[in-house]
Amino acid sequence: MRIFCDFDGTISEVDTTDRILSLFADPDWETIEDDWVAGRITASECMRAQVALIRAGEAELDEALDAIGLSPGFIEFVTWAQDADLPLTIVSDGVDRFIHRILERHGLPRLPVISNRLIGTPQARELDQPWRRRGCAAGSGVCKCAVIEASASAEAGPVVYVGDGRSDFCASGRADILFAKASLIDYAAQRGLAFHPFEDFHDVTARLRPMVEARAAAVG
Ligand SMILES: [Mg+2]
Ligand SMILES: [Zn+2]
Repeated sequence: MRIFCDFDGTISEVDTTDRILSLFADPDWETIEDDWVAGRITASECMRAQVALIRAGEAELDEALDAIGLSPGFIEFVTWAQDADLPLTIVSDGVDRFIHRILERHGLPRLPVISNRLIGTPQARELDQPWRRRGCAAGSGVCKCAVIEASASAEAGPVVYVGDGRSDFCASGRADILFAKASLIDYAAQRGLAFHPFEDFHDVTARLRPMVEARAAAVG
């Protein structure tokens, strides 16, 4: 069994990129957001254009990031997954710099993160998208379906996916066990995907733990 978790709105309580943009970007970032919502540009184009508008030094970024909280139960969830030997990867269409800072502040510096990369300088920020894939249905900077496919093997076992929104739509169809909240619930319900609704990571642990224990018992 392998676990993949979205970050923004799933692990973090707010959308980190939106928070940083609203604090430090030229107000044009919202026009760009509208273009994406209206389907005029892809999610990956949207993110690159928005990140280029951020004007903040590293200390300002850190101060804002340090005010962002984690979903209740996430730290306990990580500990439980490690004890149960379940690999946990964060797959995010957000920004590595933001995610790593937040995880570090909560004592979780070692979790693997697959995301877009912040490069450039404070005066000229840029977003590198090494996980972008042409033809990705979600148009995301990080093609989460490709990440999951790349990890798939008979030996790795079922895929658990935890998410909340648009960037999780393509990946959710590839999950064997899906945890959904917010707009991912509507998406999964409309497509007839089986899912477990959750509010926070206490819910995810409570649901997943008996499944893992049942599998371990079946294997003997
Ligand atoms: Mg999200
Ligand atoms: Zn994709």
